[in-house]
Amino acid sequence: MSKIIASAAIRGAHKIVARSREKWQWALEKWGPAEPVGFPNTAYYLPIIYGILGHKVETLGDMEAVLKRCEALLPPPVKETHPLPYLAPALDAGMATFFAEEILEAIRYLETPDFYTKSEDPAGDNLWLGAADDVILRKRGVEFVDGTAPGFAAVLGAAPDNETAVKIAQELQQKNLYVFMAGSDNGKHFSNQLVDAGVQIGWPTRLVPFGPDTSATVFAMGFATRAAMSFGGIEPGDYRKILIYNKDRIFAFAMPLGYVTDEWYANAAGAINYGFPIIADTPIPEVLPYGICTYEHVVSNVPHDKIVSRAVEVRGLKVTVTEVPIPLAYGPAFEGERVRGDDIYLECGGGRTAMVEWVTSKSMDEIEDGSVEVIGPDISDIEPGAKLPLAICVEVAGRKMQADYEPILERQVHHLINYAQGLMHIGQRDIAWLRVSKQAVEKGFRLNHIGIMLHAKLHQDFGRIFDKMQVKLYTAEEDVKDKVAKAKDAYAHRDARIEGMTDETTDMYYSCTLCQSFAPSHVCVISPERTGLCGSYNWMDCKAAYEISPTGPNQPVPKGATIDAKLGQWEGVNEFVKKASRGKIDHYNFYSIINDPMTACGCMECIAAILPLCNGVMTVNREHAGMTPCGMKFTTLAGTIGGGISTPGFVGHSKYNITQRKFLSAEDGIKRMVWMPTSLKEEIRERFEERAREIGIPDLLDRIADESVGSTEEEILAFLEEKGHPALSLDPLM
Ligand code: SF4
Ligand code: ZN
Repeated sequence: MSKIIASAAIRGAHKIVARSREKWQWALEKWGPAEPVGFPNTAYYLPIIYGILGHKVETLGDMEAVLKRCEALLPPPVKETHPLPYLAPALDAGMATFFAEEILEAIRYLETPDFYTKSEDPAGDNLWLGAADDVILRKRGVEFVDGTAPGFAAVLGAAPDNETAVKIAQELQQKNLYVFMAGSDNGKHFSNQLVDAGVQIGWPTRLVPFGPDTSATVFAMGFATRAAMSFGGIEPGDYRKILIYNKDRIFAFAMPLGYVTDEWYANAAGAINYGFPIIADTPIPEVLPYGICTYEHVVSNVPHDKIVSRAVEVRGLKVTVTEVPIPLAYGPAFEGERVRGDDIYLECGGGRTAMVEWVTSKSMDEIEDGSVEVIGPDISDIEPGAKLPLAICVEVAGRKMQADYEPILERQVHHLINYAQGLMHIGQRDIAWLRVSKQAVEKGFRLNHIGIMLHAKLHQDFGRIFDKMQVKLYTAEEDVKDKVAKAKDAYAHRDARIEGMTDETTDMYYSCTLCQSFAPSHVCVISPERTGLCGSYNWMDCKAAYEISPTGPNQPVPKGATIDAKLGQWEGVNEFVKKASRGKIDHYNFYSIINDPMTACGCMECIAAILPLCNGVMTVNREHAGMTPCGMKFTTLAGTIGGGISTPGFVGHSKYNITQRKFLSAEDGIKRMVWMPTSLKEEIRERFEERAREIGIPDLLDRIADESVGSTEEEILAFLEEKGHPALSLDPLM
């Protein structure tokens, strides 16, 4: 490593560690050693310290040992005549920097609780989001699992002007990367530059304004450290594995923009530990030989119009940029962007007008591949702020096409439209909702571009299952009404097919091992009546996914002889699970929470737990941040049962699964359900009440306690007794 960089990094680390000790001393005098400290809503404490050192910092007093560790790690400042190589001491200084900065940021949460918004988006004038909580980690982390986001760019400082900032950000977004922003240069922040130029920032657009100071870099590195523990199942303290995991799986790099201070060098040295290279726009010394990082460590003086492609190259990232011939920027990073208020040029659906999306198969000779027709008024025929009804009818044909694939293709419409910058899409089927922004229209967007992008993307991703595709977009009232009626018929047909299926009526289940890239021993086996615990895959989806990609993560699992029909255990499933988990798990039960329940990776939408005092079970959805009657919050529960193990008394499941007839059927199913957060109750109410009517307790949902009744078993028991909850008269649970 260059001597200049090493000595600057070591100098910077000394300053930061000293500042951290000073701040800590001050805080200690003010609040005392027992004062609780931490980042909001996380089970990972101060995550870099926890991941690398295995040390749980819960109070101000706990920080002392970490500071001592920092001071021990700090190498002496580099002397002018020093002849030795500098890499190892500089890397240690970098690590000490991160620990010290986590302490500084944690004390900031204590000192100025409202400094950060603690949300996904900036709030009013406050841009700074601070540490991502575990809900965000999960939600965004999944994108790192399935590859929709390969990694992130940690941007420090600011671009020379707003226009350059926007260009760099947009280029990073188009490469599907997250942009984590911290620090300032010359009093300017990259985040501010984007906001001033009218760009939407926040987690949904992948442009994340962590904080105004250099120390906010630890929020990016903490995210990476938690990803390794949470998705990689790596034990806290196993620092080697955490660093290697990041080098191999998280495609991240640091991009300092502007004058590189000693403190920046110190943070850069820290990032190199993780295998994240540094790509700078200023002429700092370069570190080109390979070693820790995949290729070069520090590349400098890169012009702004080359900086993103150079970074991607140095990090060894292969990005497939989708060429979609429309006049708008296109990619997953634009999915979360919203179109609101005065920005709306056209609005369709969302209860304001009729809107429907419908994929249907036709015979080969009925379809002219690539044809897109707009039937009725287009954008050029309306005034800004207008509303139109809209039917998006996608017609496909192919030798391999089957009716079962229609919903799979149809489900893509939502994100494929959202990928276009300036378009917002919500919902599906006949409750779809579309907004087109004025900027999109200015850039030349017309309705036929919806057809063009669906044609390009569906062909690219699902070309195996169909050969030809055409799109018709209707915007006249009468036509749309007609299409809505026809589509509704088709939906009813489809629903009846999967709803009518039971686990008994098929000999074939499907596996999903998508999460093995992060939780190596985890295997989901999906039956018609038990959808994947993440809520993203049901039996039909897996079947279609297998047919589309026969060597992919969804494989057929012949269920074989029944071992126990009540618990839901089969020979074929056990064999498959044993092989796919590499011997770690040799059996599990589909329908039980008590007897060897199914394993969980960490992606579950909900976690059920038994409540012995109430003779029932509770379940909590990921969005519910509060305490639950089993004595643990969702994040703690997830930490306890995740990682590919089977934990009797607990099970991960999807929201939809609660209203499937086999849900915990070994323990009497929904009759045992005694507590659920209100948000979950409302979300599944309609289907739940249907099930409740079937079992003859139509008002069951209202006899179930929620957080307004209480969050301990004792508190809810009285309510259950008063309501005559059926669980109380069932056989004892244990
Ligand atoms: Fe992961 Fe299971 Fe969902 Fe597949 S079904 S993505 S393995 S949680
Ligand atoms: Zn998972």
